Amino acid sequence: MRFPFALSAKIAGHIIKHKLRKTPKFAMVLQLEPLHTCNLTCTGCGRIREYSTSLKDMVPLEKCLAAAQECDAPMVSICGGEPLIYPKIEELVAGLREQGRIIYICTNGVFMRKKMREYLAAIYDSSNPSHESYLKQLLAENLISVKEAETIRNADATAKNKVVIAPSQWMYWNVHVDGLEFTHDLIVEREGVFKECVAAIKMAKILGYQTATNTTVYKETDVQELEDMFKFLSSLNVDGHTISPGYEYDAAKKDMVKRLGKQPEDFFLTRKMTRQKFAKILDWGRLFTIFGTPVYQEFLAGKRELTCTAWAIPTYNIRGWKAPCYLMTDGHYDGYQEMLTKVKWENYGVVDGKARDPRCENCMVHCGYDPSGALGTNYQSGDNWKNFKYNFWPRPQPFPSSEELTKRAFNGASIGKGHLAEAKAAINSPRAAMNGAQSVFQRREEPHEAHFSSHCGSGDTSERDALLAKIAEARRPE
Ligand code: SF4
Ligand code: SF4
Repeated sequence: MRFPFALSAKIAGHIIKHKLRKTPKFAMVLQLEPLHTCNLTCTGCGRIREYSTSLKDMVPLEKCLAAAQECDAPMVSICGGEPLIYPKIEELVAGLREQGRIIYICTNGVFMRKKMREYLAAIYDSSNPSHESYLKQLLAENLISVKEAETIRNADATAKNKVVIAPSQWMYWNVHVDGLEFTHDLIVEREGVFKECVAAIKMAKILGYQTATNTTVYKETDVQELEDMFKFLSSLNVDGHTISPGYEYDAAKKDMVKRLGKQPEDFFLTRKMTRQKFAKILDWGRLFTIFGTPVYQEFLAGKRELTCTAWAIPTYNIRGWKAPCYLMTDGHYDGYQEMLTKVKWENYGVVDGKARDPRCENCMVHCGYDPSGALGTNYQSGDNWKNFKYNFWPRPQPFPSSEELTKRAFNGASIGKGHLAEAKAAINSPRAAMNGAQSVFQRREEPHEAHFSSHCGSGDTSERDALLAKIAEARRPE
């Protein structure tokens, strides 16, 4: 089966229950943002920009759990910010499991291996041969160091008693991957992140975790590269992929103009462009374990229209229930039911090709339209069978791994072609390479403090900033 039976059955049961009760609007997935702090500053990320004045604030654990209870979505996607920075992330996962939720931890992957080492330290038992064989395999594949293996073996009582994130069929690591190495590191604005994500996915698979990836497609995304990315991730036995077109967040747009000197139309997709980029999504759905209904995939490919059901994937964060959707903010509410009642939902979305709000015009994102496919809005004959078959039929076979595929995947920093390479060259030979280095960043000169301070917690841009400072220094007339 494409998804574990228990998960598919739980979601199907939730929909049937509400259909029988004739509930007009209900939640399918809660996007829970316990904090907006992040260790990265990805281009196109609206979160760290929209909430830049409250990056250090956190939603208390009890409030996170109460929000999940109130909206009662069967799935909770813990996002942010980087949720693995949330100090009570383990307790949050445990609490949501106690409530019977399916959990996705949406992470940039950088802290995943640390969390899995903590899990190993908590469970390690020298008399259990499978634990030692895990360590040997992880060491053989360079996924942990000898020192880390020793720390796991000699864990003290505090490490043994720590609440940890353990593998479960109810939980997925959902790793952000926006392309192969060069592209991904460029988008997350830091070299080495793709490599870390791959290491984390490999470690997770060895330890029996379920893993998924989420990818945002931008104007610059190359479709062939996307296919290679899915092949590579499938060869790592990744359990599923979410893919969604990039949307022009107001906050991300402003950042792009101010910090990167880019125009939003150079980066984000219009509706027409989305349909061109996603023309092959139905084929990808057959070849790879793409999450999302086939109805939503048909919508992305331009084969049908759907009406936005943003209320089905609500977002809860430090300011409350964010309305109308994950992307756009017209207000925050104290309660989910209050938000359902007070928001004028009929003012949003695109109906029959006409945007009811101009900001919705180019939006086809999964958090607005994927539930529409599952809930039967714009129902066409055969849709239910199509969705059932997609979920309950056998999942596509993993793509065979090969040296050639791995080589194609590691096409950036690993082979000295990272996006910072030209800048590094500029430092070594400043005058000769100056123009090239500038074009890499396409960024206007501005004082350092103009965007984010560089300590962890508000987005570390130190690697790039240090290079830019050295380049500026080299450019100064003698
Ligand atoms: S990892 Fe990137 S996209 Fe995710 S919250 Fe951090 S900066 Fe935003
Ligand atoms: S179409 Fe829906 S999900 Fe997209 S921006 Fe508008 S309200 Fe939000």
